[in-house]
This record gives sequence, structure tokens and C-alpha cells, in this order.
Amino acid sequence: MSIASNLNAIRKDLPEHVELVAVSKTKSTEEIMQAYNAGQRIFGENRIQEMSEKWTDLPKDISWHMIGHVQRNKVKYMAPYVSLVHGVDSLKLLKEINKQGKKHKRVIPCLLQMHIAKEETKFGLDEQELQALVADEEFKKFRNVQVRGLMGMATFTDKEEVIRKEFHDLKLMFETLKNILPGLDTLSMGMSGDYRIAIEEGSTMVRIGSSIFGERQ
Ligand SMILES: *Cc1c(COP(=O)(O)O)cnc(C)c1O
Repeated sequence: MSIASNLNAIRKDLPEHVELVAVSKTKSTEEIMQAYNAGQRIFGENRIQEMSEKWTDLPKDISWHMIGHVQRNKVKYMAPYVSLVHGVDSLKLLKEINKQGKKHKRVIPCLLQMHIAKEETKFGLDEQELQALVADEEFKKFRNVQVRGLMGMATFTDKEEVIRKEFHDLKLMFETLKNILPGLDTLSMGMSGDYRIAIEEGSTMVRIGSSIFGERQ
């Protein structure tokens, strides 16, 4: 199967209100251009340096999404162009993104990453941390970041009921957060292995890599 035909098969599968982020981490500019020529304009990367090199080399009408963990000292490299930062999980990081946004006279769209999986990982907020973050006086004063919604990753398992419950919980957190931040419109959940479940549970944005580009090395 070619990249273009993989992409078209996935597009047919997605409802109209669900946006597709083609996850191109580790993939070459040639492979990304195959997807681009098939009409894809949103690409996701998990390393800022790699994304910035691709941004330099590839057409400027591509929207670049940072889907990985963000180190604060690297925010400056993506601040001029990044379209959406999915992995924001601290006030400190949001503060740096706001600072860099201001420098570039931009409002940088962000998603707060929630820890929903059973697995141990350093990344992502729990519900209490989310409540504390959005209630912080400093958060309310940021003018150069815009929180658009939430992002989360389900447990890596073949137990569908576990995945479904985690996505369901994330959707509830998203709806609850809308009471405080009414402008929210993006719920980023679902990857190659679980995007159909994510969509059934209310995802508005899926991040799909291997089903489009093939397995990564
Ligand atoms: C790599 C990655 C994806 C895509 O994973 P696939 O299983 O290849 O679709 C999605 N989200 C994040 C955060 C990733 O790091």
C-alpha cells in the first residue's frame, strides 16, 4: 500500500468533524511530500529539532503540530511557526510558550496533556493538577497562548474496554473544563491502534502515524 492510498483509506473512515494529524516523526521529507501531494496539510512531530528542520525544508502551507514532550529550553525554536502544541503539562511550560509567543507577536494554540493511562509515565496532568493550573492567577493573565482543549494517550493494551474507559474519562474532563474555559474545541485522542474507539468516545482530532507511513524503525 502506498502512503497516498493509506491516507485515503483513513480519511474515508473519519467523520467530518474529526481532524487528522499525520504523524511523520522519523519519516523523510520525501515520504511527507507523498502525503502532502495526496492533500494532507497537518503533520505531527515529537522532537522540536526534527520538526524545525522539516518546517524549513517543506512547503509553508503545512501546519506543524508538536505532539511529544516539550523541553522548555527548546520552545523558542518552534515558537515562530508551530500550529498546535499537544503536550503541555505544566504552568511553567505554558509560561515559556506565552513568553515566546509574545516575542513573535503570536498567540500559540496549546492542548493540556492529561495522564489517563495505567502506565507509569512522567508526562501528563491528573485532574487535580488540571484544576489547579486553570485556576492559577498567572494562567488567567497569559495573552500569547490559547488553550484549545485536551490531549491524552490510552494504555497500550489490546483490552478494548480499558482503552474505551480512559477515552471516556478524558471526554468527561474535557466537557467539565468547558464550564471554566468555554472556548475549548479540541480533544486530541486516538492513534493508529485505537482511533476508532477514540472517535466513538468523542475525539475531535486523531494522531495517526504507522497506519499512514508504515512502521517506524
Ligand atoms: C508516535 C505518536 C503517535 C502516532 O502513533 P501511531 O501508533 O504510529 O499512529 C500519536 N501520538 C503521539 C503522542 C505519538 O508520539
